[in-house]
Amino acid sequence: MSLFDDLKARQRKHLFYPWSVQEEATPWSVVDAKGVWLTTDDGREVLDFNSAIFNASVGHGHEGVRQAMLKACESPKVAHPNLVDEQKVLLAENLARIAPGDLNKTFLTLGGAEANENAIKIARMLTGRYKVVTRYRSYHGSTIALSNYAGDSRRIPFDGTVTGVVRFPDPYPRGSGQEIDTVRLLEEIIEVEGPQTISCVLLEGITGSNGVLIPPKDYWIRIRELCDHYGIMLIADEVLSGFGRTGKWFAIDHFDVLPDMITFAKGVTGGYAPLGGVIVREHIAKHFEKNRLLCGLTHYGHPFSCAVANAVIQAIESEGLLENATKRGEELGVLLRDMQESNSNIAEVRSIGLLAAIELENKNIVEASHLKKQFLDAGVYLTVRSGNVIFSPPLCISSDELQEGFRRVKQVLEKLVEKKI
Ligand code: PLP
Repeated sequence: MSLFDDLKARQRKHLFYPWSVQEEATPWSVVDAKGVWLTTDDGREVLDFNSAIFNASVGHGHEGVRQAMLKACESPKVAHPNLVDEQKVLLAENLARIAPGDLNKTFLTLGGAEANENAIKIARMLTGRYKVVTRYRSYHGSTIALSNYAGDSRRIPFDGTVTGVVRFPDPYPRGSGQEIDTVRLLEEIIEVEGPQTISCVLLEGITGSNGVLIPPKDYWIRIRELCDHYGIMLIADEVLSGFGRTGKWFAIDHFDVLPDMITFAKGVTGGYAPLGGVIVREHIAKHFEKNRLLCGLTHYGHPFSCAVANAVIQAIESEGLLENATKRGEELGVLLRDMQESNSNIAEVRSIGLLAAIELENKNIVEASHLKKQFLDAGVYLTVRSGNVIFSPPLCISSDELQEGFRRVKQVLEKLVEKKI
C-alpha cells in the first residue's frame, strides 16, 4: 500500500467526505500541483478545468501566495474579532477599491455560506422585514437556512425549516429567458407576497453550479429598479462568479448595476485559506453607526487569511489575470461553440470569461459521476451536474493549456456520441 493509500484509508475511517455516500466518496487524489496542472497519486498529469472547487483562482503552487503565507507565519497572531491588524486593513482597503460604486465597507466571514447568512441578517436588520427572494436554480451555501432559501435540489431534506422563503424562476430554459419575462414575474410575486414583508432579493452574479445561466443584458438593472421601488435590498452572491472568474472582479460588473451588498469567498484566497465576506454600500454602513450590528464570528478577519487574500488580489492585478480570463474565455467560447456544431449531444453552450457550460441534449444519457470519471481518465478534471459540463479553469491558464484541455474534453464527448462510454 502506498503512503497515499494509507492516508486515504485512515482519513476515511475517522472523517466524513462532504456531499457523499461515504462508501462511494471520491478522494481528491492530488499529490502535487502547479499552475493548472495536477499530479494524481497514480502519477498522471491532469488539467484542472474546475479550479479545484471553483476556488483556485490564481492557480496551484503560487509562489507569491507561498511567500505571503510564510511571512504571515513569522509572527502568528491569535484571531480576535476586533483585532486591529495591518493585513486586515489592507484587505478592507483592497476590497473597497475593487468593488463597484460606494460598496466600500466589509463584514468578513470564513466562507461563502456565512457571507450570505450575514448579508441576509443585515437586510433583515435594515428593513425590519423577514422574507428572502431567491431563484429556483441557485446555490448559496450548505447551512440549514441557506439550504432552505436556495432552490438547488440539495435543499429538499431540509425544506420547511425557515419561514419567508420566496422563489422565482431563472432566466432559463434555453435561449436566455427572452421567452419568459422572469423579471415581470418577480414583480407580480413581490406584489402578491406583500412588498412590506420582503427584506432582500439574493441572486448569484452569474448562476454557477446550477448551469452557468447568463441573464439578458437588462436583467439586473430591471431587478435593481424593482428593489428600489419596493425598498428591498439587492444582494449579489459572487462567491463563485467573483474575483475574476468572468473576466471582471465581479460578474455584476458586466451589467452596470450596483447591488446593496456583494458576498464573496472561494477565489478571494485562491483556495489557500478560508475567507469570505459581505461588502456593503455606504447607506448600510451608515445605518450601523448608530445601530448594533448583530453579526459576529470568533475567527472574524483572521490575519493569516487576510494576508493570503491580499497576495491573491496582488497576483490577479500584477499577472493581468482579469485580462487573461477575458481573452482565454473568448477562446474557450469559440472552441465550445465550434464543437457544438459537430456534436449532436450538445444542446447549448453558455460562457462568460472563464466560466462556461455545455448543456447536454439528454441529461440522462450518462450518469454524471461516470462522465466525470471519463474526463478524468482522459486527463481533465471538471464538474458534471444536472446535464451540464461546467468549465472553470484557473485564471492563469495559457492558450496552449486551454487547447490541450479542450482536446481531451472533445475526445470524451465524441465517444459519448458514438455511444462508446
Ligand atoms: N454561493 C455560491 C454561489 C456558491 O457556489 C457556494 C459554494 O459552492 C457558496 C455560496 C457557499 O460557499 P462556501 O462553500 O464557502 O460556504
